[in-house]
Amino acid sequence: MKSHAYQKKGIAVFGLGKSGLATARRLHDGQANVFVWDDHQNQRAAAAAAGLDVRAFDAVSRADVDMLVLSPGVPLTHPKPHPVVQLAREVNLDVVGDMEIFLKEKTAGRVVGITGTNGKSTTTALINHILKTAGEQVAMGGNIGTPVMDLPQLDENGVYVLELSSYQLDLTPSWHADVAILLNITPDHLDRHSDMDGYTAVKKRIFQNQMSGDVAVVNIDDPICRQIFDDLDETQTSNCVAVSTSQITENGVSVVDAVLHDRSIQGENWTCDLSGVEALRGTHNWQNAAAAYAACRALGIGPEHIVEGLKSFGGLAHRMESIRLLKGVRFVNDSKATNADAAEKSLASYDNIHWICGGVPKAGGIEPLSGYFSKVTHAYLIGEAADAFAESLKDKLPYTICNTLDAAVQAATKASFAEDKPATILLAPAAASFDQFPSFEARGEAFRDLVCEVSI
Ligand code: ADP
Repeated sequence: MKSHAYQKKGIAVFGLGKSGLATARRLHDGQANVFVWDDHQNQRAAAAAAGLDVRAFDAVSRADVDMLVLSPGVPLTHPKPHPVVQLAREVNLDVVGDMEIFLKEKTAGRVVGITGTNGKSTTTALINHILKTAGEQVAMGGNIGTPVMDLPQLDENGVYVLELSSYQLDLTPSWHADVAILLNITPDHLDRHSDMDGYTAVKKRIFQNQMSGDVAVVNIDDPICRQIFDDLDETQTSNCVAVSTSQITENGVSVVDAVLHDRSIQGENWTCDLSGVEALRGTHNWQNAAAAYAACRALGIGPEHIVEGLKSFGGLAHRMESIRLLKGVRFVNDSKATNADAAEKSLASYDNIHWICGGVPKAGGIEPLSGYFSKVTHAYLIGEAADAFAESLKDKLPYTICNTLDAAVQAATKASFAEDKPATILLAPAAASFDQFPSFEARGEAFRDLVCEVSI
C-alpha cells in the first residue's frame, strides 16, 4: 500500500510493533514527516535501523505534528490513558490507529470487518479462504497476520477481509464496512474498557457509518448481541442478517446440528450438511461458519461456491488444531483458548478428555467450566494458575499439578495410553501464556513439538 494521503503532514507514531512499524514506514515512503517512539529501547533501535526519525513525543514541537498514530496495545482510556495520549489530548491532537490511516489510503475495494470476543481470526480466515476458493481478489489483515498498511491496493472488484479488536475499533473514528460482522460479546479486556457497557459500545462500532446497501451480520444467540441486532434492525438502513446456532432463523443463516440453513433471501430455503468437516467441529465453529456464509452471500458469492470453501477450510493453528491421532488418542492444540469462554468450546467438542490447562489465570478462573468437568477424565495443571485451578477442581475431578507443559504432556500421554479406549489430550489452557511462554503461539508450538516426540 503506497501512502499518498499524508504528504508533508507531521505524524507521530507511538508503539513500534509490527503494525506501528509498517505504518511508520509506509507514511515515511509517502513523504509524511514521521516521528516514532516506543517505550522499549529494542523497538526504537529497530525503527532507527529502518531509517525512521526516532524522537520522544514530548520532544516534537506541536506545530510539527498533525496526528498521533497509536498502537492498539497502548491504553487509550482505561485503566488510565498512557501519558502520550494525555499529552496529545492536552494539545487537541487526533489520536488514531493504523486502520484509520488505511481507510484514508485505500483507493478501491469493498471491506468486510469482523469483530467479537471469540472467533474473529477463525471467521476472518474462513471468509478469506471462501473468497479465494471462489476466485475473488482478496486481501486479509488487521488483527490477524498482516498489518493493514502492508496490504496491497486492490481494485474495485477486490475485497479486504479485516479482523478488528475492540482496541482497533476504539482508534478508528472513520470506520465503515460494506459487510460488518459481530460474532459474540462475553466479558474480556474489561480492564481496557471500564465495564461491559464500555466494551459493548466499542464492539458496536463495527456497524458505524453503515448505510443502505451495506450488510450487518449479527449472531443473535447471546443476549447482548440480540439487543444490538434488534436496535440495528429498527434504526439502521443497512440490511441486517441474523445468524444463530440455536434456532433456524427466518430471514437469516443458521447452523443447527451441523446443518446450515440459509433463509436470508426471501422465498429461498437452502440447506447443506457440514458434519464431518473437522475444521468446523463444535457449535462455536458453526457460529463462525454461519457468519462467514452470510458475509460471503452478502458479497454476491453463490451458495455452492461458499459451501465448497467451508468444506475445504483447513482451520487455523492453535485453535482446536488436531495434531496427531495415535493409538486412538487424539492430541488437540487449543492454545488460543486463553479464557474460560474459549476453553468451554473445546471441552464441549470432545469426550474422555485429558485436559491440560493453566498459565496466567483470568478473572473467574475455570469456575464457569464446571458444567463440563464430567467430560474430563483427568486434568493436568501448569503455570501460575495451578493452585487456583486445583482449588476449583477439588472433589470434582482428579487432577495432577504438573507445573510444566512438558510434564503435563508426559503424564497425560501415559494415562490415556493405559486406558485403551479413545481419548483426547487437549491443551485448552483457559489462561494466558505469559508466565512460561512469550505468546499463545509459542505455547502451541511447544505442545506440537512435544506431541511429535511421543512414540508408542
Ligand atoms: P479470536 O481471534 O477472537 O481470539 P479465534 O478464532 O482465534 O478467535 O479463536 C480463539 C479461541 O476461541 C479458540 O480457542 C477457539 O476454539 C474459540 N472460538 C472460536 N470461535 C469461537 C466462537 N464463535 N465463540 C466462542 N469461542 C470461539
